[in-house]
Amino acid sequence: MIVMKFGGTSVESAAAIERVASIVKARAHRRPVVVVSAMGKTTNKLLAIASTAIDGAREEYIRQIHDLRDFHSREARLVVPLADRAELDRLLDEHFQELTELVKGLAVLGELTPRSIDAISSYGERLSSYIVSLAFRHFGMDTAHLDSRQVIVTDRRHTQAAPLYPETYARLAAVVPALAGNEAENKIVVMGGFIAATEDGVTTTLGRGGSDFTAAIVGAGIGAEEIQIWTDVDGMLTADPTILPGGHRVKTISFAEAAELAYFGAKVLHPATVVPAVEKNIPVLILNSRRPEVSGTRIVSEAVPCGNVVKSIACKRKITLVNVHSTRMLMAHGFLRRIFEVFDRHETAVDMVSTSEVSVSLTIDNTRSLAAICQELSQFSEVSIEDGQAIVCLVGDNIRYTPGVAMRVFGALDGINIRMISQGASLLNLSFVVAETDLHRTVQALHNEFFAELDAEVFDAA
Ligand code: ADP
Ligand code: ASP
Ligand code: MG
Repeated sequence: MIVMKFGGTSVESAAAIERVASIVKARAHRRPVVVVSAMGKTTNKLLAIASTAIDGAREEYIRQIHDLRDFHSREARLVVPLADRAELDRLLDEHFQELTELVKGLAVLGELTPRSIDAISSYGERLSSYIVSLAFRHFGMDTAHLDSRQVIVTDRRHTQAAPLYPETYARLAAVVPALAGNEAENKIVVMGGFIAATEDGVTTTLGRGGSDFTAAIVGAGIGAEEIQIWTDVDGMLTADPTILPGGHRVKTISFAEAAELAYFGAKVLHPATVVPAVEKNIPVLILNSRRPEVSGTRIVSEAVPCGNVVKSIACKRKITLVNVHSTRMLMAHGFLRRIFEVFDRHETAVDMVSTSEVSVSLTIDNTRSLAAICQELSQFSEVSIEDGQAIVCLVGDNIRYTPGVAMRVFGALDGINIRMISQGASLLNLSFVVAETDLHRTVQALHNEFFAELDAEVFDAA
């Protein structure tokens, strides 16, 4: 069996779903399990509905829910066979009635908790998985819909839940192959990504972009031979195309490199995706649903020999730099611990750290608790904040073996102010902080420096 995951843009419309159907059909002999994201920007729209509701704008949220229903109904009707229209309408009625009730409840409470955010945002994948499952029948495939909340079991950390692996794997192994049937009578199992449930059945989600993670969990749970992540780009590119278009396709990359890139902002892959895949040594492929003929990126467990030092450049925008200056004395022991305890108490992850004699700089991307963090830090230090920063991260196994990489970086970035730099923590990355306003020219300069020549075994030139 293989797992095929299709992201939001890959199922954003009837035409997109039709493309997906033909991609899956062509691979039906490999007994695919299909994981889908919410259609297009549905998750964002659901979150917008929730915030309109707590603002008390009743007419506005009713209109937003109507629009969302219209959108799903319009696109679905174009791909669901006539015989299944009644079932489609029933599904849409049921889901949108429930959603409306939930949103009304939120409006009354005027408060949005992580648990209710999960309840609302789950509707995207719940709807898309039903619609895609019905649509496949229109294209001559036999399908079985599976509600992911019955098989993916997580802890209670709403909006960022972590799977409870033994229970999840046990359920997947028991349920999925049974639904899929045997070779002779195969059904294509279709399930939503991103959504899950606690052991007591309360809906949770795996975090934004979490459908990739679902695909990997499912792949590991059923012992799939391959996990395919179908998206809107040709694969992992040498630069984030939203910052620098025209990057080259990386044909093969190691799990370690891909994880590092994902962690430092390559949105094409959710950072947790590789964890279950590594554990079970299942190759992961990134493929383009608009250009299925392109061979994409293959992520494999062993390091990939490569003539280039760097495989790709990842970026994380909207970074905030927190500078903490010791007021009492030179760095006393215990100073770092006290600082990290504050971030820990506020459940705020720190991405990069650098220290000097009396000060420490850290970067964070989640500023939800920033005011409280600053308040606590200022009890024993002076704190200053700089927002509008970006992390740029060069990733490649060869960085650890190649002398002079930092020199090439500094040479290429002549005239750009580097605020922070870090190398060595993972051996395969070199990362630094620049102002967001310098991001484009930083990536451009580095891309020119490190990808002027390409190892044709590893890269496919744009
Ligand atoms: P999906 O909805 O299919 O999950 P995402 O939007 O989550 O798609 O991820 C795909 C996007 O990731 C691409 O459209 C691209 O803008 C972005 N991206 C960021 N960095 C990279 C990179 N290094 N290579 C490819 N895509 C990248
Ligand atoms: N629909 C979810 C999101 O937009 C999960 C995903 O697409 O991977 O974050
Ligand atoms: Mg994604």
